[in-house]
Amino acid sequence: MRLPVPRSLGGRFYVKEVSVGRDPEDGRVGDCAGCDGYVYHDRWHLTATVVGDGRRSRYHYCDGDCLGEWLAFAAD
Ligand SMILES: [Zn+2]
Repeated sequence: MRLPVPRSLGGRFYVKEVSVGRDPEDGRVGDCAGCDGYVYHDRWHLTATVVGDGRRSRYHYCDGDCLGEWLAFAAD
């Protein structure tokens, strides 16, 4: 889901897109960007697309609470 208005994370970084989707089932596990947990890349999970400094990054989260906490922390 593309956010109607990009959410500022401070500086020149913005969250442009949040999605819950299913990636190809490759069995990879990645770090959750919001906590110390891990996220299976082949399960339903939450991702946020952050743009800034000419780069575009995708972060994975356990769930909505985790993303919310990360946003609150990042926007400080
Ligand atoms: Zn998490």
